Amino acid sequence: MTTSKKFDAIIIGSGINSLVAGAVLSKSGWRVLVCERNASAGGAIKTEQATLPGYTHELLSSWHPLFVGGPAYADLKEELDKRGLVYKNTELPTGVVCSDGTAILSTNPEITGAEFARLGDGESWSQMMGEFTPKLDLAFGLLGADLWRKSSLKLAQLARKRFGNRGLVAVGAELLEPAAPWLDRQFKSPVSKALLAPWALHNGLGPDDAASAFITKVISAAVAFGGMPVPVGGGIKLVEALTSIITDAGGHLLTNADVVKVIVENKSATGVILSDGRTFSAGKAVLASTTPQALYQTLLAGEEVPVEIKTSADNFRYGRAAIQIHLALSEPPIWKTDARMKDVAIVHVLDGINSLSESVNAANRGYLPARPTIVVGQPCAVDPSRAPAGASIIWIQLQENPQVIKGDLANEINPGDGTWNEERLNAYADRVLEQLGTEITNLKSATIAKIVLGPREIEAMNKNLVGGDPYAGDCRIDQYAPWRPLSAATGHRTPIKNLWHIGASTHPGPGLGGGSGFLVAKRLAKKSFTKKIFGK
Ligand SMILES: Cc1cc2nc3c(=O)[nH]c(=O)nc-3n(C[C@H](O)[C@H](O)[C@H](O)COP(=O)(O)OP(=O)(O)OC[C@H]3O[C@@H](n4cnc5c(N)ncnc54)[C@H](O)[C@@H]3O)c2cc1C
Repeated sequence: MTTSKKFDAIIIGSGINSLVAGAVLSKSGWRVLVCERNASAGGAIKTEQATLPGYTHELLSSWHPLFVGGPAYADLKEELDKRGLVYKNTELPTGVVCSDGTAILSTNPEITGAEFARLGDGESWSQMMGEFTPKLDLAFGLLGADLWRKSSLKLAQLARKRFGNRGLVAVGAELLEPAAPWLDRQFKSPVSKALLAPWALHNGLGPDDAASAFITKVISAAVAFGGMPVPVGGGIKLVEALTSIITDAGGHLLTNADVVKVIVENKSATGVILSDGRTFSAGKAVLASTTPQALYQTLLAGEEVPVEIKTSADNFRYGRAAIQIHLALSEPPIWKTDARMKDVAIVHVLDGINSLSESVNAANRGYLPARPTIVVGQPCAVDPSRAPAGASIIWIQLQENPQVIKGDLANEINPGDGTWNEERLNAYADRVLEQLGTEITNLKSATIAKIVLGPREIEAMNKNLVGGDPYAGDCRIDQYAPWRPLSAATGHRTPIKNLWHIGASTHPGPGLGGGSGFLVAKRLAKKSFTKKIFGK
């Protein structure tokens, strides 16, 4: 074992949280080493011309509203701009095609207002936005703040001042309400409900889960105000720009660098050991963007960790699995019932809120849904550079999949031993494409290449996505917000001094916001600035 160069911080993993943390620390003068076990950086950002030359696919995550609307982008924007990162946006972030009709949601309030009015829900939409918009600062605060720090007391005080003690109790109930009863109360049209309800899926929830109404309102408002931005050329451009902030400041990104141990001396993290035996030391901090199990069972194996934290990490649950289907099309998709859909970034195709509820529940219990919610992403609607002129691509996401298959609600696919082998994955993907083909009339004839990534493939691409869970941990309320990553180890501190836990398994959870990396890096940078100036 050789101890080589010394860094201020070593960051394990190169997902968005790691790269944001590395960039923020580099900007503050820290020398950073990022260790990534894969051959390339970015984690769940994986842009490749994977089907045919000229067709640029986001194999995993694709949409950047969380990043563009979040504090990390505001902080790093100048540096990212200098490195040529450009975002494009759309007026039509989302739409729905369901059995009761179609609808779109626009960043233009007049268009959205007219759409809800057409559905008989004009007043319901404006009432909801009128009531929720003034609470958005608190909602984003709750989802973005370091909940276990004194600074978050300010948020609590603001909420108390605004709502009073009794009012806070009511706000608590509003926070915990499931989406299904709220949508039934708020909207008349099944189309309005189907337009908004699938958005809870994108935070790992279903419409019957606690807090899914709150998440649906937050995402609906965020999308209505912020659209659906994507980087021109793909997420790789963000990965490259963040990496270059780190390397320009003297830091390094090592790929094929699998960290197998955090070095702990005198109860403090001082470095890491790679699987090939190389060691690196960190003078100030080690940040681990891993699952709780990887952190406490592997990287800290043999170290002194309170038993309740170990047990809590052992019990950390993973959510439903994801499936991604990528299509290269020789021409743009033709939508049968509503031609406007061709310009929409993300169209949800489903029967309605009942099929959504049934599919989520089926997947939670181990069953393949009969009528899954098909998330149809159309990156070319925002960034036409993703495909050759006149051609297109489709990014399909399925979120209602069991990790282990026990049965099929449609009684067509034999679950066999329950694993997502090639045969079962392809049979299920074909069924979904068949269903989508009834809405996109040229789907079959225009498809010139296809890639299907199942839960096994997704986990193989990123070991934090255990069982194919795209969110690195079940996001139901007992593992969310103040309880993420663990009820016994809240926040980003760990029981080991100078070792910080970041990434999607930690608060504020999954998504391309870079929130946990940003919170920890800002905290560390502030601490070291205070130490330099005041010596403490
Ligand atoms: C299919 C899919 C689609 C999604 N779509 C969207 C979307 O459109 N918009 C959105 O906002 N969010 C989306 N998400 C969620 C979002 O992409 C993730 O929550 C986010 O990217 C996670 O970032 P992270 O910083 O936690 O790290 P990850 O991106 O999970 O990366 C972690 C990295 O750490 C590495 N690593 C782990 N252990 C070690 C170790 N011991 N040593 C070295 N390296 C290690 C892994 O190899 C990996 O590269 C999607 C996720 C998936 C999977």
